[in-house]
Amino acid sequence: MAGLARAKLPAMMRTDRDHAWIRAAFIGFSLAFVLGCPGDKGTPPEKSALPPSLLLVVIDTLRADAVSAYGDGPGTTPNLDALAAQGQRFTRAYAPSPWTVPSHASLLSGLEIPAHGVGLGGRVVLPEAVDTLAERLRAAGYQTAGFSENALVSGDFGFDQGFDHFSVRTAQQQFAAGQKGAINVEEEVRLWLDGRDPERPFFIFINLYDPHEPYTVREDNRFLPPGIATDDVKSLGAGGRTSHLICDRIPSKAELGILRGLYLGDVAAADAKLGALLALLEARSIENLVTVVTSDHGEHFGERRLLDHEFSVQEEVLRVPLVVRRPGAEPATIQRPVELRDVARSLLGWAGAETSPITARGLESGALNPDTASPPPLVALYSDTRLHLPAVMDPGTAEEVQDFKRGGCGEEDRVYGDMLALTRFPYRLNWYARYPSEFLDLRQPGIATEADPSENPEAFAALERQAKRFAEHVGLGQATGAHPLPAKNEEALRSLGYID
Ligand SMILES: [Zn+2]
Repeated sequence: MAGLARAKLPAMMRTDRDHAWIRAAFIGFSLAFVLGCPGDKGTPPEKSALPPSLLLVVIDTLRADAVSAYGDGPGTTPNLDALAAQGQRFTRAYAPSPWTVPSHASLLSGLEIPAHGVGLGGRVVLPEAVDTLAERLRAAGYQTAGFSENALVSGDFGFDQGFDHFSVRTAQQQFAAGQKGAINVEEEVRLWLDGRDPERPFFIFINLYDPHEPYTVREDNRFLPPGIATDDVKSLGAGGRTSHLICDRIPSKAELGILRGLYLGDVAAADAKLGALLALLEARSIENLVTVVTSDHGEHFGERRLLDHEFSVQEEVLRVPLVVRRPGAEPATIQRPVELRDVARSLLGWAGAETSPITARGLESGALNPDTASPPPLVALYSDTRLHLPAVMDPGTAEEVQDFKRGGCGEEDRVYGDMLALTRFPYRLNWYARYPSEFLDLRQPGIATEADPSENPEAFAALERQAKRFAEHVGLGQATGAHPLPAKNEEALRSLGYID
């Protein structure tokens, strides 16, 4: 529901969802107080005679360092690299969660997780009362279209709000089609572009799903370690969910190399789709086009014995690529930490659309380099609760869903429970409902090293205090009864690297 439309409703006609949203928004505002930082009221929308058209592409599960322009990806992403060379590349862009639904909810609303509620208390559907990016842009006169290969980024999860056109597949159809390639994004975007009104600006949102597991076994994958045959890959069980691997045994270094190679092959496939989409737009000479490419979370390849994503707030799943190409903006590398919700704030600002009550600072605030002026901490969280999935997915019992998410792992196999990462550059504190906190140093982009609290006791104490207050405020760590700590907890934690 767009802000204007809701404002017309008499208060008594508001639904419970509205009230839930109002409560959620209240939590959002008071969080600024909890974290000791009053929210930025935001700068007034920039006025422009000709608002830009906006292209927002999420390459799902794209870990930043799998992008060639970000590090060691050996030629995986020529199209994204070319875009980065022409635009602004953010080296410290962070997702608010390690999985699809909460991250997309923040990216597509500009709100922090406690304000939209998705990803807390098992909530997975974006409430109708949240004013989404597409709703705000449509209210500002934009044509809006969404194309998603990911079943979780669908109307069943509330993500079609505000789109004139949204790729029609339901979550069930996407699952049945194996998701990857369930729709022909290039063809659908081409048809939509040809049918649009060329006199009005547009907003196109796309989710490309290729890098998400199960990874594709390709005969011609040049990212596999040398000498690896397709049979070696098949015997590893690739093609299934990798999270199910880790509980049987820890994959060897060689096996992790194979999994990463398979993943990079899928990253390259997504980049090829991106290239085709950019070429479509290029061929139409769209005037004043802003292009943003990012991801919703990364992926683990054995760090701390983790594979897949979820159940982690480590750097490998939170740091995502973010590239913005905008007419008139000089190419730059921006090291200042930003969040996915800043993307929504900036897109709305450039479009001249309504931004209230979004408190995100946007991509343009502050300096190019890490901001030492004590901005509000960046928040990322994972709530290990049973999900309330939409009935249409017929997911089985809540226990079955949770067991699937846990990959059949036992309590001693991996880290469980609610977790929270608070980042105030250059430090991050990872708070766990069940384990001791970790204090990390993020000075090197993409690499979190252990920090000694005595190096900066004030920063450590402040982050610990804030993490506890935040967790208490949003109800993290309060629903652990169903999965008590394992008897051999300490031993398990040591083996996982969480304690010495
Ligand atoms: Zn995802």
